[in-house]
Amino acid sequence: MTQLSAWDHPEPLALDSAPLPEYGTGSLADLLPTVAAGMGVPGLTATITELTPADRVCVFLVDGLGWEQLRDHPDEAPFLTSLLAGSRGGTGRPLTAGYPATTATSLASVGTGLPPGLHGLPGYTVRNPATGELMNQLRWQPYTEPRPWQPYPTVFQLAHEAGVHAAQVSSPVFAQTPLTKVALSGGSFHGRLTGEERMDLAARQLAAGDRSLVYTYYAELDGAGHRYGLASDTWRGQLMYVDRLAQRLAEQLPPRSALYVTADHGMVDIPFDEEHRIDFDADWELSAGVALLGGEGRARHVYAVPGAANDVLTCWREVLGEQFWVASRDEAIAAGWFGPHVDERVYARLGDVIAAAHDDVLIIASEREPKESALVGNHGSMTPAEQLVPLLEVRS
Ligand SMILES: [Zn+2]
Repeated sequence: MTQLSAWDHPEPLALDSAPLPEYGTGSLADLLPTVAAGMGVPGLTATITELTPADRVCVFLVDGLGWEQLRDHPDEAPFLTSLLAGSRGGTGRPLTAGYPATTATSLASVGTGLPPGLHGLPGYTVRNPATGELMNQLRWQPYTEPRPWQPYPTVFQLAHEAGVHAAQVSSPVFAQTPLTKVALSGGSFHGRLTGEERMDLAARQLAAGDRSLVYTYYAELDGAGHRYGLASDTWRGQLMYVDRLAQRLAEQLPPRSALYVTADHGMVDIPFDEEHRIDFDADWELSAGVALLGGEGRARHVYAVPGAANDVLTCWREVLGEQFWVASRDEAIAAGWFGPHVDERVYARLGDVIAAAHDDVLIIASEREPKESALVGNHGSMTPAEQLVPLLEVRS
């Protein structure tokens, strides 16, 4: 099957045809440094130049709310849609998530203000060079000491040290997680179970300082997309709920505030057939010479057995190259997929071969990843549907 399609289209996708994240001008990693620099926090630069500084800033991150999906659903999201046009005194534009477009990577980019090549959470799962095992960056399994893994301070910590009131308002389950510690800590964490409670408390936290930086989060739109897809009533219902949450928060903003509604990534629905879901666990060609399969269906890190990296690259490019951007580690770094610089400690976490989906396809692994392989909605790659997230502004 895969050989046939390679025969039909022998030219692999050129790596420079991948739409790169806009690191340094318009990526998620640029948001908090921009707003914190606007409050006078030292050592940070405002790289999203059209944002006007505000003394109090709240970032509401909606997991899985892509720019394109929002624009496709104005009826479900009338409030957020009104912000697209900037009709409430703000501006609406997309940001790029960063590569890969996945939650752990994006939350680290948001919180540290750094691209993945520096913060070092460059995938859903990546190889831990110290153990040779895959490590899940979202669940932090198997447990790894958090600080050596991500040693940079968060923007919340820098803001807190500069006298800004910094706070995160999220689900109580995230209070003590290593991902929160390395990506989103600094100031105080407040766990609240419901979306409404989080919005109300985020507004109060915003008012608690003359200068304040507040982060709040909602997860279930992403969960609905993964389980039921973007076309489902469940996903649409979640979007309607998110829209009401954003409006509820916007209506409680204290004076001199800016609210930014954004997301960690978008999503694409992938059909359930062999053509769209290539099963690594059933494909002897793709698995030859591969020691570990990392990442996720649309953004794979492929770790070769010693000496096999070139063979794996050649094979993956031949078999998948017209549906995926297939790069060696050094090619992906040189192309800037992970940002302008990749730290030494991050380098070995990246796959020997990196495959980013261009078409509506997945590399599933039905045996080693049965749950992930059954998801309807997926994300990770550089296509606009996954990569573009909203940056919607409300000012008081
Ligand atoms: Zn997700």
